[in-house]
This record gives sequence, structure tokens and C-alpha cells, in this order.
Amino acid sequence: TTALMLFRRDLRLADNPALSSACASHARVLPVYIHAPDEEGESAPGAASRWWLHHSLDALAKNLRERGAGLHLAHGPTLDTLRGLISRTGAEAVYWNRQYEPASIARDTRLKAALQAQGVAVHTHNAALWSEPWTVATQQGDPYRVFTPYWRTLRAQVTAQAPLPEPAFSDWAEQVDALPLAAFDLLPSQPWDGGLAATWRPGEAGAHELLDLFADDALADYARLRDLPARHGTSRLSPHLHFGEISPVQIHYELERRNARVDARRRADLEPYLRELGWREFAHHLLFHFPHTPRQNFNPRFDDRLWEPPDEPVLERWRRGRTGIPLVDAGMRELWHTGWMHNRVRMIVASLLTKNLRQHWRRGAEWFWDTLVDADLANNTMGWQWVAGCGADAAPYFRVFNPVTQAQRFDPEGEYLARWLPELAGAPPALRHEPWKDPALLRRSGYPAPMVDLGQSRKHALDAYQRARG
Ligand code: FAD
Repeated sequence: TTALMLFRRDLRLADNPALSSACASHARVLPVYIHAPDEEGESAPGAASRWWLHHSLDALAKNLRERGAGLHLAHGPTLDTLRGLISRTGAEAVYWNRQYEPASIARDTRLKAALQAQGVAVHTHNAALWSEPWTVATQQGDPYRVFTPYWRTLRAQVTAQAPLPEPAFSDWAEQVDALPLAAFDLLPSQPWDGGLAATWRPGEAGAHELLDLFADDALADYARLRDLPARHGTSRLSPHLHFGEISPVQIHYELERRNARVDARRRADLEPYLRELGWREFAHHLLFHFPHTPRQNFNPRFDDRLWEPPDEPVLERWRRGRTGIPLVDAGMRELWHTGWMHNRVRMIVASLLTKNLRQHWRRGAEWFWDTLVDADLANNTMGWQWVAGCGADAAPYFRVFNPVTQAQRFDPEGEYLARWLPELAGAPPALRHEPWKDPALLRRSGYPAPMVDLGQSRKHALDAYQRARG
């Protein structure tokens, strides 16, 4: 018999429960990837994610080839394509790992019903999360809306369990009429991806390289280093996690295993990092239980009363990193160049856009969606609503980040600013933080004057929030 293993955002061989069960079923297994972005709704990949997907599929296909298998690439619609493969191969079962975005859930529900109706067995698994969104609930059986109690409950359930090993492969089904990867047309037509290629190595091996680096280097001091954008103080695993090239189970197990060898203090160092993975789980919990939140405020009290209509010139200066506020511009240019931005800087650029510039958080989320290699509907929605103050367990509305004092505190030598703002690299740190204090520097370097008065715009934002609260 034959079984189809449908890869989606679980682009790895180790700790892949659907793949392991397909292989364990003793059927001949055909690995398949079907490109059907129009079935993914709001989570259809943006430009930077398409770049990543291309290279990640390439890496997966190579890994499979080394094991004697071909990755069958095809275009959607998923159901029609699966039916075609089933009739050609005589497959009796389809295996996949579950997804949690609203459009993907709807699609998978339809797929499963249609395949079962024609007598094909469907086996689905969890490959992405410690705990699926419906398995964590309050004592009343409701979803959590606040992170700390959610994390207390989840943390008590999470143990460093051993991940599944890569299956011992035996029998692979022959490929028929597979497309070449180029047929998906995922790479940009203009070559803007040089910075991405220089920064990342998509695929399972690249993910484990970063994990090794993090475990050896930054983990021990994570609680302090994670806030310093000039340092590689975080794991940078977010795109690898998004595409399922590595799982939280693998990360947790590997870090515990190494730390257990050292001592108890280092085991404690792990907790702040696990907590961040907990935020990722919480974001998935929220998106599953409140599927309207990519489009609507979690807290309806703030609907449409805070933000001005879209102002294209304002948005464009923010996107291009030309606001004249150094930490914001450095972050936006890091994003454009590498497809990633440090978490603290994400909070600060989002605060400037939604509070000082009074633009809707969805405009910012859209730009992030297109430019982040880790763009993730759950994390991006939660992150933006948190900063904008309208989300579940959001930052209090009156918290408006001051990008100048944030830079002075978290980038005191202005290293991060110098890296991304060549115009200011030659200026002393104090002026990198506040270049407007030297008008000659602005004239000489071409770096813009601030597009907004931070103090005044903060006051206007607070007034607007106050009114919205009624
Ligand atoms: P680490 O510090 O090494 O953390 C490990 C992992 O935990 C991350 O890879 C990530 O999967 C998870 N994580 C860490 N912080 C958060 C968080 N605050 N929320 C959810 N998960 C978290 N993250 C995305 O993966 N995709 C997004 O589209 C995204 N959009 C964001 C938008 C805004 C406005 C903000 C404020 C944050 C956003 N984040 C997003 C969360 C966070 O910034 C990134 O996950 C983090 O910077 C990734 O870097 P890292 O892998 O080095 O993190």
C-alpha cells in the first residue's frame, strides 16, 4: 500500500510525528508539498517568507534525496491534487501535521471530510506546539486571555520529553510528474534578497546550527542580553520555528540536556527562554480561540477611535527607515535588509507608528507581513495588538515607548545605530541618539530631522486613548 505524507509548515525530518507515523505504517511513503497560497487566507506568505519557503523546500528535498526519496511538488487546489495522486498511486492514507490559522483549519476540515468520504484514511498530528490551543483552559473551561496564568498552567504540563528521532526510512513511492521548485515562482524578480541570503540558512540543518550557537553562547546570559539589539543575545530561531524546521520539543530537550550536564544554576537560566516560547504558544492559543483578531481589535472598546486614516507619505517614511528617530530607522532598515528585527526594536517601531504617528496597527502588521522572514499570523497579530494597547493582556494604553531613552538604555554606545545608519556612524554615541542636536550633522549626513515631536505626539496619543476609554 501507499501513503501520502503532506508536508506544510513542518519542513523537517526529525521530530515530525506525521512523517514518523507514515513511515511506521509500513506503507510506501510519497512525500508531497502542495503550493496553494490562496487556501491560506491571511496567512498566505508575504515576499520575504516566500524567499524562505523556496530555500526551505530546497533543503528538505535535498535531505530526502540523500535518503533515496523525492519530494513531490505540485500546485493546488490541495484536494484535487491529492485526489489525482491517490488515483495514480492507489494511496490508502494521507498524513499531515495540524495548523492553527483560521483559513488552514477550515481547509483541513474540508479536506479530511472529503478524503474520508472516498475511503481514504486521514491521520493528523501536532508538530508545532508544546500544547495545542484547546488543551489549555481555565478552571471554568474558558480560553485564557492573560499570559501569566496561562503560562503557569502550561509550564506545569511541559516536560523536556525526548523528540522523535528521524524515521528509519525504507520504502519510498515513485514520484510521478512532479514540478520543479522554480514552478512555484517564490523568489523575487528583482534581486533584493542579498541581505537575506547573507543572514540566513533556511532548513533543518540551519536551525540546528543556530540552536548550537545559542546554547553555547547567549543562553547563559539570555535574561540580560535579550534586550540589547546590538548583540546576538537571542536565538534567532523564529523563522525556523515558523516553517517547522525545528520544534519547541526539540529546542527544550536539547537545551535541558546540555544544561543538565552543567549545573542547577544553568538550568534556571533556561526559564526566561522557555517563557518566550510560551508567548508563542499563547499567541496560537489566542488566534485559535479569537480567530477574528488579525482583522479586528481584541478589545472592541478601541475600535476606530484611535487612529487616523492611512497617511501614505507618513507610512512610507516609517517603512523606509526615514523617520528621523534613530532607533526606529535602524530597526526598519534591519528589517528591510535581513528580514528580521530585534524584539525590543519591534516594540519601539510599532509604538511610534500606532501612538506617535497615530496610524492603525494593521498598516504596520501588513508591512511586517511582507518583510519578515518569521512573519507568523499568531505572533504578528498578538505583537501588534499588544503594542497598540488593544490586545489581550496588552501593554497598558498609556505606555508609549520613548525611542530616545530606549536607545540610551539598551544601545548605550550606539553600536546598533551605527550598524544600520551609516549617516550617523561617524558621530559620537550621544549624537547618534539625538542627531537633531547638531543641525550641521544632519545637513552633512543627509539624515532627516524627526518627522514628529515625540513629546507632543505622546500627549495627543494619550488624550485619544483616554477618550476611547470613555
Ligand atoms: P528569542 O528571544 O530567541 O525567542 C525564542 C522564540 O520564542 C522565538 O523564536 C519566537 O518563536 C518565540 N517568541 C519570542 N518572543 C515572542 C513574542 N513576544 N511573541 C511570540 N513569540 C515569541 N514573532 C514571530 O515569530 N513572527 C512575527 O510575525 C512577529 N511579529 C511581531 C510583531 C511585533 C509588533 C512584536 C512586538 C513582536 C513580534 N514577534 C513576532 C515576536 C518577537 O519579536 C519575535 O518572535 C522574536 O524577536 C524572534 O527572535 P528570536 O527567535 O531571536 O527570539
